[in-house]
Amino acid sequence: MSELITARIQAHATRLGLPHLAEHLDLLVERAETDSMGYREFIDTILGEELGLREGRRFRTALKLSGLPHHKTLEEFDFAFQPDLDVRKIRDLAALAFVTGHRNVALLGPPGTGKTHIATALAVAACQAGHSIYFTSLDDCVRQLRAAEAAGRFAKKLQTYLRPSVLVLDEVGYLPCDRAAANMVFQLISRRYERGSIILTSNKTFSEWGQVFTDDVIATAILDRLLHHCDVIAINGPSYRLKDRALSAVPAAVS
Ligand code: ADP
Ligand code: MG
Repeated sequence: MSELITARIQAHATRLGLPHLAEHLDLLVERAETDSMGYREFIDTILGEELGLREGRRFRTALKLSGLPHHKTLEEFDFAFQPDLDVRKIRDLAALAFVTGHRNVALLGPPGTGKTHIATALAVAACQAGHSIYFTSLDDCVRQLRAAEAAGRFAKKLQTYLRPSVLVLDEVGYLPCDRAAANMVFQLISRRYERGSIILTSNKTFSEWGQVFTDDVIATAILDRLLHHCDVIAINGPSYRLKDRALSAVPAAVS
């Protein structure tokens, strides 16, 4: 009788997409008996563990498909190295109210100051909380959109950048955009406006965006939408990439 029930539970659990229950039924029941669990507690344990495993799987798959260059976190960020950066502001952002509020985050500063690291860490946190995320450099995004346009698939490709709750646009301004590219970026930014969050990083100040996008009118239109609901974080400290080089360069220069 008990074997029959076990087999039936396993079959039902498999059909319902509950593989943990199907595979570990004996173990779960044993634990319930050892811990003298109540009925509700037992059901709560079964569903909680199943959900935890499913969430973990979703998180790992989503990270793989996100295009993120790495999965660094805020815990790995040495705030002491950037004393002018307000750690509370970054921790507040990591609480992700900006995602549900469809607000943007702009990280500005010279190379090596940790802009991509922080953008990535916020995206990883958003992904862990169940939001969809996507990472691209602006140049790659423009390249993809141009190729799609040439193939008559622009609208479909644009969806790649519109769909995720959080879009990381890295390295805005490293290479200038011609007018056609600037128009594509405008479409992207205006279609996401008040619908989804953008985390952008740039080594240019906003006043330089006229040059980045070839045209002051387009740059102003882009900035207008981007900055309406936006936390702007300027990091103006030293480059982390050069920190060890600067130290080791001293004895080398002396000798
Ligand atoms: P940026 O995007 O501003 O050019 P990155 O975020 O790519 O800079 O940082 C360059 C490298 O230095 C990365 O490996 C990053 O993880 C690391 N890094 C930058 N700032 C810090 C920091 N304050 N603490 C720890 N690692 C840092
Ligand atoms: Mg960067």
